[in-house]
Amino acid sequence: MSDYRIGTKCIQSGWSPKNGEPRALPIYQSTTFKYESSDEMGALFDLEKSGWFYSRLQNPTCDYVAAKIADMEGGVAGQLTSSGQAANFYAIFNICESGDHFITSADIYGGTYNLFNVTMRKLGIECTFLGNDATPEEIQAAFKPNTKCIFGETISNPTVKIYDFEKWAEIAHKNGVPLIIDNTFATPVNCRPFEWGADIVTHSTTKYLDGHALSVGGCIVDSGNFDWSKYPEKFPGLTTPDESYHGLIYTEKFGKGAYITKSVSQLMRDLGSMQAPQNAFLINAGIETLQLRMQRHVENARKCADFLKESGHLAWINFSELEDDPYHALQQKYMPGGTCGVMCFGLKGDRATAVKFMDSLKMISIETHVADSKSCVLHPASHTHRQLSDEQLKEAGIQPDLIRFSVGIEEAEDIIADLDQALKATFG
Ligand SMILES: *Cc1c(COP(=O)(O)O)cnc(C)c1O
Repeated sequence: MSDYRIGTKCIQSGWSPKNGEPRALPIYQSTTFKYESSDEMGALFDLEKSGWFYSRLQNPTCDYVAAKIADMEGGVAGQLTSSGQAANFYAIFNICESGDHFITSADIYGGTYNLFNVTMRKLGIECTFLGNDATPEEIQAAFKPNTKCIFGETISNPTVKIYDFEKWAEIAHKNGVPLIIDNTFATPVNCRPFEWGADIVTHSTTKYLDGHALSVGGCIVDSGNFDWSKYPEKFPGLTTPDESYHGLIYTEKFGKGAYITKSVSQLMRDLGSMQAPQNAFLINAGIETLQLRMQRHVENARKCADFLKESGHLAWINFSELEDDPYHALQQKYMPGGTCGVMCFGLKGDRATAVKFMDSLKMISIETHVADSKSCVLHPASHTHRQLSDEQLKEAGIQPDLIRFSVGIEEAEDIIADLDQALKATFG
């Protein structure tokens, strides 16, 4: 891990060329790698030596970008995946198997909710959903003998609630399990969960890290802080011989690198959700401007939130930077420099009012995306959750009038002018 400040890491970490090598990160567009002798290649297959041999497992372009993100988070090792979904699946499946259980915040991205609630159950992995505001007693009561981790999001998508890291980390560690955090919305520029007790961090790099809505991708980073070997009966996949690698024991052979090495050499080998080197190259270019962009996203979002609040047309707004937001104290504690560009709000009126407002926007586009350079909105009741009635929406924790607004990095005056004309068109 380098000592540079975060904005410097965005640019300098990862690829560091030697004499005469390309200054920019090259795209290693190759499925495979050549060796001089059979023994050299054999040593790679035995995990005796590190190196590249087949891009389903590892590729230099992807590895340099993973190393950059790991350095930005303050972790010891990282791995890119094909999507944020794959990252969250691997992060949990690496330590949970059929018959196991984990505890998760219910205030999480809808795709992750389905992954946990439907697909992972089919694999025999159960989870308990708890609201972000669960008390320590409620969290403790959710523990079972087979509980293997706790999961949450730094800033929840779409409700933008702030996660109380210290509360959850303390209970996780008291029970001998790691805390896994999806840090997608905050990015390591605005929050580094390892500094607050998280053990593993995941990302959908599709969002701010890429920043331009160019490529879908994910990442997992290990802090190296969780001592798996202290709980051998709980994490046998890491602490007992892996027969698919001649009986090697990950914690003994790789120490702090055990978790990511297992995830690459077992899960990526068998499930193959690798990232394309082209996409890793795009993410890397995006990350170079991440700090600059996050500053602008935050600045623009603050101005838009103030404008919307003062318009008199809001029924409610979730944006933790506002002083009267219920999550303001947690925002001040964990992300005093700013959160991100995403907020959600409801207009006075009903589902139809939200639709009228969105259809009246000219520059701000209607998209199933968030967290990139272009301002956009989504109305879950009309889009991602359109099959649900108002009642069912509320059960899923989504207000029927909820508009998710992702503030881009255009000039704030133009974004506000668009909001203003759309509000006038809606309310007269
Ligand atoms: C988008 C998103 C995901 C899923 O990522 P994909 O790259 O779309 O697979 C996971 N977590 C959060 C918080 C997200 O916003």
